[in-house]
Amino acid sequence: MTRKIVLVTGASSGIGETTARHLAAAGHHVVLGARRTDRLKQTVADLTAAGQSAEYAQLDVTDLTSVQAFVDDALARHGRVDVLINNAGVMPLARLDALRVDDWNQMIDVNLRGVLHGIAAVLPAMSARKDGHIINVASTAAYRVDSPGVVYCATKMAVRAVSEGLRQESKDIRVTVVSPGFTRTELTHRGGDTQTQEAMRALAESVGIDASSIAEAIGYAVAQPDGVDVSEIVVQATAQG
Ligand code: NDP
Repeated sequence: MTRKIVLVTGASSGIGETTARHLAAAGHHVVLGARRTDRLKQTVADLTAAGQSAEYAQLDVTDLTSVQAFVDDALARHGRVDVLINNAGVMPLARLDALRVDDWNQMIDVNLRGVLHGIAAVLPAMSARKDGHIINVASTAAYRVDSPGVVYCATKMAVRAVSEGLRQESKDIRVTVVSPGFTRTELTHRGGDTQTQEAMRALAESVGIDASSIAEAIGYAVAQPDGVDVSEIVVQATAQG
C-alpha cells in the first residue's frame, strides 16, 4: 500500500470524520479541515494515540484564501497532496416559497463554491506533478429533484457536473464523485425549516446507513491503482427506495 497524503474537508463530524479515521487506519496521512477545531483536535488526538498519522487545520471552504492556505500548508509540510476529499456540506431544507434566501446562498457557498475552491487550490500542484485524486461528495440528491431540497439538489447536481467536466479535462488526475443516500450524521441538525429538518432527521435515523459505508466507498476509490479512475459511486440505504 502506498501511503498517501489525504486532505479531508468537513472532517469535524459525520462522513468526513469517519472517512479520515478510515483512511488513517489504512495507513495514510490525513489532514482534517473544518471550522470546529475542538472536534478536529479530538479526532487527531485519537488517531495519533492509536499510532496513526494525522493533523488538522481550521478551514472555511467558503473562503478561497482559507482553502488555499489549507492546501499550501500541506504542500509545504509534505511536498505533495495525493488526495483531496471535498466533503464539507450543509443542508438547511425548506420549500422554495419559504424564500430562505440566506440558506440558499449558504448551500451554494459551501456545497458548490467550496468544492470549486478546493479544486482551484489543489489543481495547479496536481497538474504540475501529473498525479493526484480529487474526490467530491455529492448526494443521491444529485440524481433527482425533491422538494423541499430543491436548492440542495441543485448544488449537488452542480457538483456532479463540475466533477464530470474536471474528469474529462484531466488525463493525469483521477476524479471521483461519491454520492451518499440517507446517512446518520449531523447534517440535519443545523438550519432549515424546523419541521422539515425534524422529519429528515427521523428518516435518516430510521433507514439511514452508517457513515462507515461511505468511508469504505471512498477508501475503495483511493486504493485503486493510478490508472484506474472510479468515476462515480452511489451508496444508499436499501430502504430508501
Ligand atoms: P455533517 O453535518 O456531520 O458534516 C458536515 C461537515 O461539513 C462538518 O464537518 C462541517 O464542519 C463541515 N462544514 C460545513 N460548513 C463548512 C464550511 N463553511 N467550511 C468548512 N467545513 C464546513 O454531515 P455529513 O457528514 O452528512 O455531510 C458530509 C457530506 O455528505 C456533505 O457534503 C453532505 O451534503 C453529504 N451528504 C450527506 C448525506 C446524509 O444523509 N448525511 C446524504 C448525501 C450527501 P464545521 O461545521 O465544523 O465547519
